[in-house]
Amino acid sequence: MTPGGPPAAFPDPLADPPERAALRATVRRVVDAVSPPGRIAALDEAEEYDTDLFDALAEVGIFSAGAPAAAGGLGDVRDQLVVVEELGAGPTSMAAYAIAHFAVTQTIATHGHTPDHADLARRLVAGTTHCSFALSEPAGGTDVARVMQTRAERVPGGWRLSGEKRWTSGATIAEAIVVLARTSPIDRSPVQGITMFLVPVDAPGLTIRPIPTFGIRGCSTCEVVLDDVVVDDDAVLGAVDLGMRQVFATVDREGLNAAAACLGVGRAALDLAVAYVSEREVFGRPIGGFQAPQHRLVDAAVALEGARSLMWRAAELEVAGAPAGVLASMAKLAASEAAEQVARDAMQFLGGTGYVRDVAATRLFRDVRLWAFSPLANEMVRNRIGEAHLGLPRAT
Ligand SMILES: Cc1cc2nc3c(=O)[nH]c(=O)nc-3n(C[C@H](O)[C@H](O)[C@H](O)COP(=O)(O)OP(=O)(O)OC[C@H]3O[C@@H](n4cnc5c(N)ncnc54)[C@H](O)[C@@H]3O)c2cc1C
Repeated sequence: MTPGGPPAAFPDPLADPPERAALRATVRRVVDAVSPPGRIAALDEAEEYDTDLFDALAEVGIFSAGAPAAAGGLGDVRDQLVVVEELGAGPTSMAAYAIAHFAVTQTIATHGHTPDHADLARRLVAGTTHCSFALSEPAGGTDVARVMQTRAERVPGGWRLSGEKRWTSGATIAEAIVVLARTSPIDRSPVQGITMFLVPVDAPGLTIRPIPTFGIRGCSTCEVVLDDVVVDDDAVLGAVDLGMRQVFATVDREGLNAAAACLGVGRAALDLAVAYVSEREVFGRPIGGFQAPQHRLVDAAVALEGARSLMWRAAELEVAGAPAGVLASMAKLAASEAAEQVARDAMQFLGGTGYVRDVAATRLFRDVRLWAFSPLANEMVRNRIGEAHLGLPRAT
């Protein structure tokens, strides 16, 4: 993992136990074999999804990590963190996709109620299909429950959905999309009255359009337009009007997975910077021998280690069934900010080389931006910690 842990006589309490170390080694092996750096850069440039990598990861059972046991899942959230961190350090777009894949698998496995839903959950765990999750909308992602325009109305035998979703990850490769739609007017709380639907992508009236993005270019980010899309009653996942509350149950885990992706990016950027400043000389000595860059890299290592500790504490709480929300929020905040800073520093210390498109530094810098505002903007993450941890009045 990271260099400089405790000496062997004092085992690192955060070190992977043997099974998780094997899982980490497997992800690294598959990535090295199928998606080495040149291919990652080429696919990023071409804005192409790495189907071969997904299939190779599926073949060794990676998408069962931390998934519900009823659908064939194994292990717990800690296994997902290992997978996502390793993908974050290399094919970061696949890390972003994997986070979405794990979340949608959890949702369908938990709230599905038909044999078809159970079959879909099993295929997601096996990694033989893809699904997407469409919550955010053009009018807003942060307070999406309040501004949600997508509506579902009852029709005989089912529901008719109309509206527009935005930023839906992987919709171009999905078999079906979990769509959240307002089914009852806002009464006491905007969180009430929203329902989850499983909508097949070939449903008449559904249109998917990719959006060109700054980063995570190896996974499509899409607009999904629903123009009087009719689904039957079985398309409802979970309970009518309680969809938003059902989503909240996956939020902490998504935040933790985002932290893991950022730790992967941060580690990769730090490794790149350390290797470069150790070799490259200015004024007759390595750049890393100057105090200013060295201290920045030390600060990055400290910040990443702090975020790592928060992430594992939160994960251990989740596994123990204790509330993990505050520590998960802290981990996401700390990891995303540390990784963004070190990705920027790596570009700086690489000078002109750090400005070349197919050098990993620029891609890491672009990719990691995502997690400063997603799945929840860091301002909202701070609000959450302020209220829940410090007991401050709810901030808006
Ligand atoms: C590559 C990518 C993939 C995504 N994948 C998915 C997906 O699969 N499914 C899905 O549903 N969504 C997805 N999203 C959407 C993502 O979750 C939203 O972008 C995010 O929730 C922010 O919503 P927004 O973009 O509408 O920004 P807004 O809600 O408009 O917020 C904009 C900015 O306002 C500021 N802000 C917000 N609230 C506060 C506050 N309380 N106090 C102070 N400042 C505040 C923050 O700086 C924030 O970044 C994805 C987005 C991207 C870019």
